[in-house]
Amino acid sequence: MPKTENEKGIVEIVDGKYKPSGTFHIIEKNQPIFDKDANKLAGVTNPRDMTYIHSYGGEAMFFESLGKGKLIATRCDNDNCEFKGSIYMPFRIYCPDCLRKMTPLNLTEIARKTAKVHSYIITHRSGAFNTLDLPIKFINVEFDNVVTILMSYLVVGEPEIGKRVVPIFRTKNPTYTITDLAFVPEGTLKSELPEGFTF
Ligand SMILES: [Zn+2]
Repeated sequence: MPKTENEKGIVEIVDGKYKPSGTFHIIEKNQPIFDKDANKLAGVTNPRDMTYIHSYGGEAMFFESLGKGKLIATRCDNDNCEFKGSIYMPFRIYCPDCLRKMTPLNLTEIARKTAKVHSYIITHRSGAFNTLDLPIKFINVEFDNVVTILMSYLVVGEPEIGKRVVPIFRTKNPTYTITDLAFVPEGTLKSELPEGFTF
């Protein structure tokens, strides 16, 4: 049952403290599960509607930047790290080698110029709560001088290994989730982008 405006769970941070308002847990009437053949009770359904509060912590800047058309990576700048200079995308806060805090880095231009499909998988059946159109063309994206591979999705054309792709961003009404970032093949026209997305 869709929630009314008053039932939505809203969270703000005031004076450094989480201030939830609205309803975060809604219970609906349960239903029995009967075994029709044996004419016996087998169980019950448990309808529960809950709003989960997902704190982004130190990764918040990554999700906020997507809605502004920017892809932010991180780089280890620790002189004492054996792998100093390694760049990570997806964004991670700490270097996995030296465990020191890394430096945020704007990767948008590098992504525009060097992003390539490393591998892909086309998903015709999604899990619960999926918000993407089916089939989903999941792509693993590689970038020059980046030591990791990013999972994203292709919204125009068909994926191919080695295909050059460019990032697009949901800059109109961003959701502040990873789906605000998607990819299209290089050369895609602005008019072919999904509603709300820009290069
Ligand atoms: Zn390091």
